[in-house]
Amino acid sequence: MKLDADRARCEGHGLCEDVAPEVFELDDDAVVVLLHEEVPEELERKAEAGARVCPVAALRVTA
Ligand code: SF4
Repeated sequence: MKLDADRARCEGHGLCEDVAPEVFELDDDAVVVLLHEEVPEELERKAEAGARVCPVAALRVTA
């Protein structure tokens, strides 16, 4: 599974990181960073949940 993060759209609320800290991290400027280019299978459900909670829809599952 792959994710796309629209870093220009991210407002740094950190909800994705709260839900799935193994998948999402905020950098020093409070912009989301993806920790995996390809999300490991055991983290897919968490990754999806993290993407869903983003209030500005900056996270998308792409494959
Ligand atoms: S939940 Fe959305 S806006 Fe908030 S840090 Fe994550 S990607 Fe950015």
